[in-house]
Amino acid sequence: MTDRIIFLGTGGGRIVLANQFAATGGFVIQTEGKQIWIDPGPGALVRAKQFGVRPKNTDIIYVSHHHLDHANDLNALIDVMTLGGIYKKGILISTPTTIDGTGDDGPILLKYYRKFLDEVHVVKTGDIVNMKNLRFTATPIQHDVEYGSGLKLETPKFTLSYVGNSAPIIDELAKAHLGADILIMDVLKPGNQKWKTHFCTQDAIDLTQKVKPQLSVLTHFGAKMIRENPVYEAREVQKQTNIRTIAAQDGMRIDLEGFKNVQKKAT
Ligand SMILES: [Zn+2]
Ligand SMILES: [Zn+2]
Repeated sequence: MTDRIIFLGTGGGRIVLANQFAATGGFVIQTEGKQIWIDPGPGALVRAKQFGVRPKNTDIIYVSHHHLDHANDLNALIDVMTLGGIYKKGILISTPTTIDGTGDDGPILLKYYRKFLDEVHVVKTGDIVNMKNLRFTATPIQHDVEYGSGLKLETPKFTLSYVGNSAPIIDELAKAHLGADILIMDVLKPGNQKWKTHFCTQDAIDLTQKVKPQLSVLTHFGAKMIRENPVYEAREVQKQTNIRTIAAQDGMRIDLEGFKNVQKKAT
């Protein structure tokens, strides 16, 4: 299996979700013989069919927080993975709110589906889940939720960081994602349109400059971002940082083979 990322969605925010101006199925990483699904939002299964991903081959699900544009199709995905519970299988990593519910919020995971999974890991910021040669670290975010996290995924071949939904707490994020070869950022707003719970393009420039990945990827676009055209916004990030930057597109695949030969620093 070729190592790659497949985007099953690049949309974020209420308007884009409601109108499906961009899809909201999250993204899939295939590496080390595993299929890892990050944030299966609304339409995840439909987009998988559309873009040639087999949901039943999923091994690990990571849900960054319980907002529906990230978590809505979690139970549906577990149903497919386990053939309605016939084959107990799979690992879920997510927040206390998504898995157990906290305060008035959640859970998203239905009790019925929890028992179909092999392992359930409740993680808070800073927690690490090790699985053979994969290491999942829940990274900090500042968002309008009590519990939520980004992800740093370390593999023998590359380190992939997903910043998640966050205000631009740039220093903290830079520290958490240092060493990332691929830096995926949720950029809801274009230009310098600062927002209290999300990134704008300027924030992506600031974080890229500090983390210095081999590749920056912008995704999770809001309506204004889509109107401004994310491709132009990505070009601006690349121009300002001299780091290769692309705007994700629905169905886009990134081949991770090219990242294999880079010598990783010992951690
Ligand atoms: Zn979101
Ligand atoms: Zn959110």
